Amino acid sequence: MTAATQEALPITIRGVTKTYGAVHALDNVDLDVRQGEFLTLLGPSGSGKTTLLMVLAGFTRPDQGSLRFGDDEVIRKPPHLRNLGMVFQSYALFPHMTVAGNVGYPLRLRRLAKAELTERVERALDTVQLGGFGERRIDQLSGGQKQRVALARAIVFEPRILLMDEPLSALDKKLRDRMQIELRHLHEQLGMTTVYVTHDQREALTMSDRIAVINHGRLMQLDDPQHIYDRPANRFVADFIGDSAFLPVERQGEAVLYDGQPLSLSEAPPHGQDLVLMVRPERLHLLNGGEGGDFNRLTGRVSDIVYQGDSYLLVADLGNDREVSLRGVVRRDTLAALPAVGGPVTLGLSPSDTALIVDAP
Ligand code: ADP
Ligand code: MG
Repeated sequence: MTAATQEALPITIRGVTKTYGAVHALDNVDLDVRQGEFLTLLGPSGSGKTTLLMVLAGFTRPDQGSLRFGDDEVIRKPPHLRNLGMVFQSYALFPHMTVAGNVGYPLRLRRLAKAELTERVERALDTVQLGGFGERRIDQLSGGQKQRVALARAIVFEPRILLMDEPLSALDKKLRDRMQIELRHLHEQLGMTTVYVTHDQREALTMSDRIAVINHGRLMQLDDPQHIYDRPANRFVADFIGDSAFLPVERQGEAVLYDGQPLSLSEAPPHGQDLVLMVRPERLHLLNGGEGGDFNRLTGRVSDIVYQGDSYLLVADLGNDREVSLRGVVRRDTLAALPAVGGPVTLGLSPSDTALIVDAP
């Protein structure tokens, strides 16, 4: 497909609330999706991701709130007047139709002339690398090919907005990894505003321009992947994205103390509130006493070393029920040089990796 003939649209979500009995599926959500961006809704199961996507698509009417595509208020518009493409987790293909029949379906609804319909279907199939598959039956396709058909059907009428709900979750890991890259390229090629749902934090980090982390129907943080990972807004986000341990700290005037010692920091800690120190396994250094510098030191005993092929995890017991893990790359002789299980160990965090997090849900 050539560059989208219609301009991508920004999405403005304001005060959207949806309750089911006592459950707040969406709790006063405000969210701006930028024109042409790839935005991912990320959260645990039951956090409200699908509900928000269904509100965008028009299949679910919220109790309150407003929704604009560009300048248009669409909250009362039915799905077929919203001009958006949608890929469902289950693909929702018509099993008795051919590939071309499925992909052409939205165009037949729009009563396109036969010649143009055929041309558009072929173009959409080429775009998802299924050129020549038009006459195949759906049940002759692999999972990955079905997923591509669903995608072709979603983009065939060149919508300005594309919605996808966990579209890769049925695929095995290798295919999923490849499709992540392909979907990303497709987005770059077509440029439509895309809202993508996943519960997989790595998928979100890989694919997105920005990530909206949601929990219990509330927006926790909206930011680009690097900020979400390195500067999580609170403990929920820090815990959900990547691995981390949290250690108690004490604020004393301008200083923040761990274990009675002031921490070296590269920037001022967040204001007020209770803080915890977030420790990511790949940010810890194994210190053996010789290095100078400014490391914040954590001392304890090695409680376990876990070999994981390309990397290892060294688990350290810091006392008082505190535990952190260090992840290291395995090279020749790495493992032999590690401290013994049960023996003392000193771990270091550089000031720029010493991240203080607001200890709130
Ligand atoms: P997610 O997609 O993040 O897993 P959902 O949006 O599907 O979450 O669901 C959010 C919450 O709303 C859950 O607690 C779910 O049980 C509830 N919910 C969603 N749809 C309905 C419905 N049609 N009826 C009752 N409860 C629902
Ligand atoms: Mg869901």
